[in-house]
Amino acid sequence: MSLDDKNTLAVEGGSPVRNTLLPYGHQCIDEDDIKAVVDVLRSDWLTTGPKVAEFEKRFAEMVGAKYAVAVNSGTAALHAAAFAAGIGPGDEVIATPMTFAASANCVLYCGGRPVFGDVEADTLLLDPSSVESKVSPKTKAIIAVDYAGQPCDYDALKKLSDEHGLILIADACHALGATYKNRKVGTLADMTVFSFHPVKHITTGEGGMVVTDNPDFAVRLCAFRNHGITADHRQREAEGSWFYEMAELGYNYRLPDINCALGLSQLKKLDKFVARRRQIAALYDSAFADMPALFSLAQRDDRKSSYHLYVVRLNLSKLNASRQQVFGALRAENIGVNVHYIPVYWHPYYNKLGYGKGLCPVAEKAYEEIVTLPLFPAMSDRDTGDVIKAVKKVLRVYAE
Ligand SMILES: *Cc1c(COP(=O)(O)O)cnc(C)c1O
Repeated sequence: MSLDDKNTLAVEGGSPVRNTLLPYGHQCIDEDDIKAVVDVLRSDWLTTGPKVAEFEKRFAEMVGAKYAVAVNSGTAALHAAAFAAGIGPGDEVIATPMTFAASANCVLYCGGRPVFGDVEADTLLLDPSSVESKVSPKTKAIIAVDYAGQPCDYDALKKLSDEHGLILIADACHALGATYKNRKVGTLADMTVFSFHPVKHITTGEGGMVVTDNPDFAVRLCAFRNHGITADHRQREAEGSWFYEMAELGYNYRLPDINCALGLSQLKKLDKFVARRRQIAALYDSAFADMPALFSLAQRDDRKSSYHLYVVRLNLSKLNASRQQVFGALRAENIGVNVHYIPVYWHPYYNKLGYGKGLCPVAEKAYEEIVTLPLFPAMSDRDTGDVIKAVKKVLRVYAE
C-alpha cells in the first residue's frame, strides 16, 4: 500500500516512525533509589528527620552554596525565596514570560506585581537590557530563569541588581548541573531555586530547594517552610522545651524524609544524568545543523547548559505548515513533543490582573515557533534516532 510508504506522514495515514509514544521527559529510577526509600519507610523518621539535613548538606556541597533549604516543590521554593527577599504589596519584581507560571506567581503570592522583561531572540533567556528598561523605583527583585538549562547572563544581571539595590533570584529549575563562566548554578544569584519534579534533572517525586550564601535568608527560608515558627534553642531552654513562637505567617512546605532519601540517592547520579543529557543534545545539534526549516537555541560560549529541555524554533517561512501542524504531525509519529512556554501573562488569570498581549514581542514571536523535543537520560540512542528521523520526515514533507 502506498500509504505505508515511509515518507507518508503518520498524520496522513502513513506508518509512524515508532510504535509507542516517547515522552518529552521521564524520571530515571533504579534499585538503589528504591532501596533508599524503603530504608526510610522502615526507620523512625518519615518527616523532619535526619535525611532532610543530609540531603540539604549534600545538595549545598554539590552546587557550591553555603546553605540549602529543602521544601516540597519548586513552586514552594520560589514562594519561600520571594518571602525571604521581603517582597510585599507595592513591590515590583522583574520576571521572564518564557517560563512556567510559578516563576511569576510567587510574586503574586507575596502581594507584589511581576513586571515582564523580554528575552533574547536566540537563547530565549531574560535580556538584561530589557530588564534595565523595566526597572522602576518600586522594583525590589529580579527572577531570572535559566531557560532550557542554559544559565542567564548573571554578570549583567548582578551588575543591574547591585546598581539598583535589587535582590537577584535565580529560578534554576531547568539548570541543575549547569555552569556560567565555570561557576556553578547555585552560586550566581542571591538565592537559587530548584525543582525535583520527575521531569527535572533529579527527582524526589515532588520537591524543591533554595540555596543561598546569606545566613539571614537561610533563617527566613527555614522558618517559612514550617509555619513561620522560629526554633531558637536558647529560648527553648530558657522557657521550657515546649516553647515555640510563630513570628511570621509561614506554611507547611516541609519535604519528608522519604523524598529526601530519594533525592540523596538521585544526587549521586546527577553528573551521569547531565552528561547523558548533553550527549543527546549534541546528537540533536549535529543532526539539525544544516536544516533550513529549524534552528536550535543558541548556546553561549561562556556557559554549559545542563539541558532540561531541547527546544527548536521553526523557520515558518521555509515551511508550508503552521507550528500546530508540525506539532500534530510529530505527535502522530509518536514523538512526545511539547511547547515551553505560553508567555506567562497570556494566561487568563494574568489577563484579569490587567496584563495584555504585546508586552514582550520577542517572547511572543518565539512562542509561535517553538517545539520541545524529548530529552531525558534514560533515552536510548535509538529513541534519539527516532526523534531525528521524525523531525526530518515531517519537515521534509512540509518543506515541499
Ligand atoms: C518545574 C518548574 C517550576 C516548578 O517546580 P515544581 O516542582 O513543579 O513546583 C518552576 N519554575 C520552572 C522554570 C520550572 O521548570
